[in-house]
Amino acid sequence: MANKIKVTIWNEFRHEMHLEAVRKLYPEGMHKAIGAGIKADDLEIGYAVLDEPEHGLTEAVVNSTDVLIWWGHCAHAEVADEIVRRIHKRVLEGMGLIVLHSAHFSKIFQALTGTNCSLKWREAAEKERLWNIEPAHPITQGIGEYFELPYTEMYGERFDIPQDGKIIFMSWFEGGEVFRSGVTFERGHGKIFYFRPGHETYPIFYNPDVLKVIGNAVRWARPLLFAEHTAPNVKPLEKISPKEADFGVAGIVQQVEL
Ligand code: ZN
Repeated sequence: MANKIKVTIWNEFRHEMHLEAVRKLYPEGMHKAIGAGIKADDLEIGYAVLDEPEHGLTEAVVNSTDVLIWWGHCAHAEVADEIVRRIHKRVLEGMGLIVLHSAHFSKIFQALTGTNCSLKWREAAEKERLWNIEPAHPITQGIGEYFELPYTEMYGERFDIPQDGKIIFMSWFEGGEVFRSGVTFERGHGKIFYFRPGHETYPIFYNPDVLKVIGNAVRWARPLLFAEHTAPNVKPLEKISPKEADFGVAGIVQQVEL
């Protein structure tokens, strides 16, 4: 199929290495489980992890990625600022970004939102019901009025994100909290989707609804154009009439000496 969407799935890939319970759930890493789960003819999927040189996100990789999926948790601080700047620039130029679960605290999400992205949390294997509040949105196609995850980590409000985010999913948790679980943003030419599910000790990235949403989000975030941001000094399109006063280059009326 021509014009496949180039997807890069980035994973911190540390819990899978160090925690037996996580390794059992995701023997090849969460990135590979997500990739297998969203696999389709219109997607060309690549992978990158933190411990690769440049975190697997070289200029060549970033500049050929249409949509970047990001999972991080315990090593946000280890992501080099230079790589964050590279991704930030590319998002503003048009690259889509899907930020999963604990990546709410990633440097790239904080940089793009301009907020702290803090929230409440609790690990008690509780039930979560994600309400689909934008059923006409491309990201929620194939999802009913709501879907449920039987065992999740709780994230609760207040979630410190900017108010220009469009809320796609709203979660209710067994313990009583609510959370904006699916939120879209636009920055520059790029589209961003934050999606809450994905704690490493639960089989979240095998859930068909979660995978359906991520797959939909990839297609929604696909760039319609890539364009560098420049600030050119331009010639007028029309002839500008002469003015009686001379405003000078700074727009200030020139003092005339008498
Ligand atoms: Zn978590």
